[in-house]
Amino acid sequence: MFERTKEYKYIEQYEIARREGDSAISKILLSRNTKTNEDHPHDGFSPDAPENISSDVLKRFSTYKNTLDQIFSNTTKNNTDLISRGDDQFDNMFTSYYMNTHYSHYNSLQLIRDEAHLVYKQSQRVYIAQLALTVAVGVFLILFADRVFLKIFRAIEIDSMTDALTGLYNRRYLENVISCDAQGPARQGRAYSLAMIDVDHFKIFNDSYGHIAGDKLLANIATVLVHSVRKTDSIVRYGGEEFLAVLPTTTKQEAVRIAEKIREAIKKMELILPDSNDTPQITVSIGVSSFPDDADSFKKLVKVADERLYQAKMQGRNIVKSQ
Ligand code: GH3
Ligand code: MG
Ligand code: MG
Repeated sequence: MFERTKEYKYIEQYEIARREGDSAISKILLSRNTKTNEDHPHDGFSPDAPENISSDVLKRFSTYKNTLDQIFSNTTKNNTDLISRGDDQFDNMFTSYYMNTHYSHYNSLQLIRDEAHLVYKQSQRVYIAQLALTVAVGVFLILFADRVFLKIFRAIEIDSMTDALTGLYNRRYLENVISCDAQGPARQGRAYSLAMIDVDHFKIFNDSYGHIAGDKLLANIATVLVHSVRKTDSIVRYGGEEFLAVLPTTTKQEAVRIAEKIREAIKKMELILPDSNDTPQITVSIGVSSFPDDADSFKKLVKVADERLYQAKMQGRNIVKSQ
């Protein structure tokens, strides 16, 4: 139409359309750049860099503008060639922009899909590992937990029934375990003996050589006592410097022999003191009681052994009393 009429209003309309075109193109380019930066802020990924598309479209648009400018500048007589070149340039620009945009989106989607697939694979591996671990722990609990817990429980139980200084059983063990076990022989009519052992003048020893030396003496006495009895017998730390030897299936005669052996062993014991060259003489007094001779219950046997220990002290110490 313009080619035929050369009317001024077409030039005006072209100027307006040209400005709108410029502004529309710059808006598109601006939004593309901003959007792409926000979408991929860290990964630096750029399937078909938007800047490349932008500069390509800009170049094509300015070529197209030049051609249209020439048409509307009125300097050229015959515009037919320019108009058909303008048409080609417009198609070119349009195709290029949409093709690039399409491929750019396609590539982005492809990459997102690949990444999602990778995340899915990784989470699947984590899930399988967790499942395997759960199954392993489950199997372990079913097969071994009761044994492990039982062992831990036993260790705690033994610890609470053991004396820390000497490693011997304590009063709790005597009352909870030994006294119950002792009911068996009594019911079956088998012999059973006790020997209550007390260190003579231990207070003087403590006062002379100190509390630490006293502790060492108690630990040494404990070792001698353990080595003086059979495996089936038990030694209990009954009080501060008082020990109880529990002798199952042992007659009074045998018990007296064992008590004498203990008394002799302590008397011969060599004690090396940390801060002194002295070799103090350590002795013990012992009271022996036996079932069925002296009493018919464990509690009464302990009482009789304690009374005989007291008599041994009264009679001058370093003595075994069994009557
Ligand atoms: P006896 O011959 O009449 O038995 O006189 P003893 O001095 O041995 O008896 P006494 O009951 O008068 O004193 C016991 C001492 O044992 C008093 C206490 O301080 C001490 N003793 C108790 N337990 C421990 C301990 O674990 N370590 C030390 N070093 N001393 C202890
Ligand atoms: Mg004593
Ligand atoms: Mg005592």
